[in-house]
Amino acid sequence: MPLYSFSQIQKYLNCPLSYKFYYVDGKKPEWEENLHLILWTEVHSALEWLYNEINNFRKPAYKQLEQVFLNSFNKKSSKLDEEPEKIEEFLTRWKYYLKSFYDKHYPFEDIKVVWTEVRLTIDLWDNIKFQWIIDRLDKKQDNFILTDYKTNKNLPPEDKTLYEEQLTLYGLWVKQKYWKYLNKIYGNLVYLHFEIQDFWEITEQRMQEISEKYKNIVLEIEQKKAEYNLWDEDAFPTTSDTSHCRFCDYKEICPLFAHQFWSIDDFELPDDMVRKLIDEYVQLNKQKKDIENTLNQNKEILIKFAKKNKLKKIYWNENNLSVVNYKWVKILNKDKLKEKLEKLWFLKDVLEVDRFKLKKMIDTWKITNTDLENIIDYTETLGLR
Ligand code: SF4
Repeated sequence: MPLYSFSQIQKYLNCPLSYKFYYVDGKKPEWEENLHLILWTEVHSALEWLYNEINNFRKPAYKQLEQVFLNSFNKKSSKLDEEPEKIEEFLTRWKYYLKSFYDKHYPFEDIKVVWTEVRLTIDLWDNIKFQWIIDRLDKKQDNFILTDYKTNKNLPPEDKTLYEEQLTLYGLWVKQKYWKYLNKIYGNLVYLHFEIQDFWEITEQRMQEISEKYKNIVLEIEQKKAEYNLWDEDAFPTTSDTSHCRFCDYKEICPLFAHQFWSIDDFELPDDMVRKLIDEYVQLNKQKKDIENTLNQNKEILIKFAKKNKLKKIYWNENNLSVVNYKWVKILNKDKLKEKLEKLWFLKDVLEVDRFKLKKMIDTWKITNTDLENIIDYTETLGLR
């Protein structure tokens, strides 16, 4: 039974190929402890400790919370090879986050904490397990509140939809588990850096929409895995948004970047020859564009000249050019046009199979080449951009 997590799905959406490297091929990059990671972990742990205390009817003073954080932070950061000023900078930042969070929520009343930092695995859909960690789940009267702490320094709107979808998906689990005690479910995103809190109701309709969306993504991934394992080594393509490549750990093996890392011995063709061909190709391509631009400019001037002098053909030496009147139709309302042509019995005459849609159907295995044998010619060629 496949096991998925929200971050796993995000990885696929950001770049199917990096997903394949990580989850299908099992090429997991080694994580090195760093200040960002330590602070993220320690702030979560400190807030977990705080809410566990509250759940036990204790209200720790801020200093106690800070101490819990510092004990662990100092122990871990001392093992890093970092400048003391850098460590101090992070420390100041995070002490401030904890303090402002504490002051804002003190005296922490009316809340019953159900879970803090708990890892859950449930069956969300048939045969598909989903796992995640909930930062905090509270119960306030008969409402449940899912809280997620965000520690990054990006302005919240950047990833807001993503976070909202994540909590909405978690809401499904709350609904399944606590439906007996449940009135409403709320999402609560806490952006520690900006001291911003987003609080909203997770509605039944939204849960269904998000559940459907993620279910379809999971099914797509499962299909890609089958294709990859059986016949298609390109089933997981590179991302179309290369901003995700910036911090990618797979550049050395990704077809978009691997060539940059080759040593001279790796070239099948002589190194010089490949470099020369790349230069030549780029130069020629540029020249081609320049030629196209000049051709267009010349065309415009010559057409003007012919039009002004009412000529349909113009001559110089043994060369001549005909002025051709190209006509084309732009369809403004496809449905109305179809209706009209159908009434006039002409629809069949203008109907044409959309080659691009047909190609998509073949690429997504809705129809196969074999089904269309001798009817279409499906070829693949490689090009250069
Ligand atoms: S470098 Fe870019 S395209 Fe290649 S695997 Fe990483 S994210 Fe994907």
